[in-house]
Amino acid sequence: MRILTTIHAMRLACKQARRAAGEDSTLALIPTMGAVHKGHLSLVDAGRKECDVVAASIFVNPLQFGPTEDFACYPRSFDDDCRQLAKAGVDLLFAPEAQEMYPAGATTFVEVAGLSERLDGASRPGHFRGVATVVNKLFNIIAPDVAYFGQKDAAQVAVLRTMVRDLDLPVRIIVGPTVREPDGLALSSRNRYLSPDQRIQALALSRALHVVEELVDRGERSSVVLRAAAAEVLNHVPGLRPDYIEIVSSDTLEPVVSVASGALIALAAWAGETRLIDNFRVDPASHD
Ligand code: AMP
Repeated sequence: MRILTTIHAMRLACKQARRAAGEDSTLALIPTMGAVHKGHLSLVDAGRKECDVVAASIFVNPLQFGPTEDFACYPRSFDDDCRQLAKAGVDLLFAPEAQEMYPAGATTFVEVAGLSERLDGASRPGHFRGVATVVNKLFNIIAPDVAYFGQKDAAQVAVLRTMVRDLDLPVRIIVGPTVREPDGLALSSRNRYLSPDQRIQALALSRALHVVEELVDRGERSSVVLRAAAAEVLNHVPGLRPDYIEIVSSDTLEPVVSVASGALIALAAWAGETRLIDNFRVDPASHD
């Protein structure tokens, strides 16, 4: 695996890798903030299966963190990340410093209006502007054919799909399923912050989604009823502070009154200082 830290070197490496792989070769990109876990690796696997060249990025993007958020202490484990990504089959790793991505005087941003203020965007003002801007820059630098994102960050997926559509970006977005611990907790780099007690509290998110999923399976469609069922689970865990429980269209992130295929049940909650998210998307096959 080649590790590139400048935009110029990464552009060149992508061109060389494509040339070496043949005229019609395809390039996959898996953007990450590092602290690699099996969720990230599942996206690398998908890219490896579908594309000839696999690029990943590790960049803790200052632009998507609010002033009181965890940018400074976000988990960083670069050497271990490199080992895992190389083993998983990444060919090119882009790992720039912040000043490489945002030189002094950079004043251009990408804003997906509307969607960026919903779900996590409502709790984290400016977050999705940072995400859209950095992903757009990564697309411009790396020029992937396919980019892979996790369903765990469902609002991010909606924002980025809209950005790709609105700006005619020549990139196909593929969404990989949420990878979980055996007990249901969605893998996240931020799980490293959790104390043993908070780790137990955090299980309420997947438990709440499971309760909602069972109700949907039994035919319940009312968002009011489903939301109340999720709230019932989250509100009864001492120490856990729910941030939002939303039932929305997975494309527009607008609230829906009644759940149909494509609806998203999304949760966020604080365990101590750690904000966790999880969601469940109603499956088109089984709930039409
Ligand atoms: P992050 O490093 O947290 O920015 O995540 C990088 C990519 O991995 C994003 O597309 C995330 O949605 C995805 N991801 C994070 N956690 C998981 C998970 N548990 N399962 C699948 N994908 C994930």
